Amino acid sequence: MHATRNIVTGFSLVILMLMVLGILSIYQVKQIARNADDIYQHPFTVSNAAHTLNSNLVTMNRHLHDVIEAKSTEDVNKAVSDISHYETEVLKEFDIIFDRFLGEKTQVNNVYKLFVGWKPIRDEIINLVRKGQIEQAAIVNANKGTQYLDKLNQDVAALVAFAKGKAKNFHDHAVKNQQQATMMLSTLAIIAVILSVAIAYYVTRHHILTNKERLHRQYLVDQNIMMAMLDKEAVILDASNALCRFLGCLKTDLVGTPSGFFDNSDEGKDTCETIMRTISTGKEWKGEIKRISADGDIHWASSSILPNFDDDYNLVGYTNILADVTSKKLSLTDKLTHLYNRRRYEEMLPRELRLAIRNETPITLAIIDIDYFKKYNDHYGHPQGDQALSLVAEKILVSLKRPNDYAFRIGGEEFAVVFSNLNTFESKQFLNEMIQNVEALKIPHIANDVSDYVTISIGAQVMYSDRPITELQLYSMADKALYMAKGKRNTVVVNG
Ligand code: GH3
Ligand code: MG
Ligand code: MG
Repeated sequence: MHATRNIVTGFSLVILMLMVLGILSIYQVKQIARNADDIYQHPFTVSNAAHTLNSNLVTMNRHLHDVIEAKSTEDVNKAVSDISHYETEVLKEFDIIFDRFLGEKTQVNNVYKLFVGWKPIRDEIINLVRKGQIEQAAIVNANKGTQYLDKLNQDVAALVAFAKGKAKNFHDHAVKNQQQATMMLSTLAIIAVILSVAIAYYVTRHHILTNKERLHRQYLVDQNIMMAMLDKEAVILDASNALCRFLGCLKTDLVGTPSGFFDNSDEGKDTCETIMRTISTGKEWKGEIKRISADGDIHWASSSILPNFDDDYNLVGYTNILADVTSKKLSLTDKLTHLYNRRRYEEMLPRELRLAIRNETPITLAIIDIDYFKKYNDHYGHPQGDQALSLVAEKILVSLKRPNDYAFRIGGEEFAVVFSNLNTFESKQFLNEMIQNVEALKIPHIANDVSDYVTISIGAQVMYSDRPITELQLYSMADKALYMAKGKRNTVVVNG
C-alpha cells in the first residue's frame, strides 16, 4: 500500500514536471517569436526606412543638380517633378520612422524640421534657374544646400545608429532569454530524468523484494504445510514437501497417482467414497484420515478438502490440506486397543453430561469388565491376554452405532461406554447385544465359570436430564451396578 502510494506520487511528479516543461517550452517559443517580431517591427524597419530616406535625399540632391545643369525648360520641369516625387517618398519614410522609432520622438521631429527647412532653399535654387540665374543657383546650392543636406544626412545616420543600437539591445535580450530558458528547461529535464530513474529503481527493487518474499512464503508453505492439488478424479497433480515427508514418498512418485485422499487403512476405501460423494457436489469435506507407513506405524491426519472452480464456476479439482494429528491422537488413545484412554474419558464425560442436560436427552455410562481375566492370563499367558483384550475392545467399538457414542479403556481390562438418547430399558437392550457380540467372538476361555468363551459383565447407570448428577456420582452408581452384575457375570445391570 505504502509502496504503491510512493510510486503514484513519483509518477505524478514526473508528469507534473513534463507538463511544466511543455508549458515553459511553448512560452519560450512565443517569447523568441515576440523578440524576432520586435526586432523586425521596430529597429529593422526604422533603419531600413532611414537608409531609403538617405538615398532618396541623395537622389533629390542629384535632381537638384539636374535642375541647375538643365539645357531646356523641359529638362528643368522634368527634374523638378522628380524632386517632388522623391520628396513624397521621403515623407512616407518619415511616416514609418515617426510610427516605429523607439527613441525620443523629438529627435525624429528635428530631422523632419531640417528636411522641411531644406525645401525653401531648393525652391530658391529652382526659381533662380527659372529666372536664368544659373550661376547664382549653383552658389546657393553649393553653400546653403550642401550644408543642409550634410546636416540632414548626419541626423538620419544618427537615427540609423539608434535603431541599430536598439536592435542590438533586442538581440542581447533575446540571447539572454534563450540562455535562461535553456538553463531552466535543462534543469527541469535533468530533474525529471533523475526522478524517473529513481522511480524505476524503486519499482524494480520493490518488485525484487516482493518476489523474494513470495518465494520465501512459498518455501515456508511447501516445507511446513501438508498440501496437495488433486484433479477431479482425485489424482495427485502436486504435493508439498511437508506432505511428501508425512507420506514417506518422493514427489515424483506421487504426481500422477490416485490420492485415495491419503488414507490407506482398511477403512480407507469407505472413507474415500464418503469424501467423493461430498466433494463432487462442490462441498468441502473435513475429517480424519489414517495412514499406515511401510513399517506398519499408524499415523493420523486431519484433512480438509476444498473444491477448486474455474472462472465459469466449473469444478476442476480439489485442494487437500492436511495436518499430522498422530501425537495428539496417541496422547488420547490407548496403544493396545486404540480406544480412547482414561484421560480422554475424564475430559469427555463432564462435557457429554452438560450436553445431555442442555439437549434434555438421557445419557448412559456403562462400565465393562472382562470376566475371570486374571485366570485367562494365568492360563493362556499375558500376550494372548493382550490379544483377547484388543479383540474385545474392537467388538465394543463396532457395537456402537452413532457418531456420539464413545468407548474408552479406563483400566486394565475395564472399559467405559457413553451413549445418549436411550432410556433404561433401551440401554439394557443395547448393552445386552454388546455382551452377546463379545461372547460371539468365541475366544476360548477354559477357566471361565459361566461360558466356554471370553465374556464381559456390564454395570450401567442412565442419567435423565431432569435429575442431573455429577460424573463421579454417575461413575459410582454404574460401578455399583457392575458389582451387582459380577454376582452373575456375562450379564448387564442397568439402573436409571
Ligand atoms: P472378575 O471376573 O471378577 O473381573 O475377575 P478378574 O480376574 O477379571 O478380575 P481381577 O481384577 O482380579 O483381574 C484383572 C486382571 O486383568 C488382572 C490383570 O492381570 C489383567 N490385566 C489387566 N490389564 C491387562 C493387560 O493390559 N493385559 C493383560 N494381558 N492382562 C491385563
Ligand atoms: Mg477389573
Ligand atoms: Mg475382570
